[in-house]
Amino acid sequence: MESDHPWLVGVERLQATTRERNRTHSVNNAFLALRTLIPTEPKDRKLSKIETLRLATSYIAHLMSQLNEGTCAVEHPRCDPGPRHPVCTFCVSARKKSNGYGQP
Ligand SMILES: [Zn+2]
Repeated sequence: MESDHPWLVGVERLQATTRERNRTHSVNNAFLALRTLIPTEPKDRKLSKIETLRLATSYIAHLMSQLNEGTCAVEHPRCDPGPRHPVCTFCVSARKKSNGYGQP
């Protein structure tokens, strides 16, 4: 809702800019917090926002599988014997570590 007074329009625009800056800052902080919870190799690998969301989604699927079934259903698909077997990057990474690969 814009005012009829030119100086008020300027104030409202400034307020809108400030709100947008705060919103952007808040979203970026949330992405940074989410990023710290996703294990990657190397640990400080830079992720875009979409990569962060996709990796967070697959990490949650991996953790849920581990929790509910004791193993990762993404890595060991039970209901999908088709040619397309999804690979869980978190299981692959954990296996590399336990085999001694990927060590500094
Ligand atoms: Zn997994």
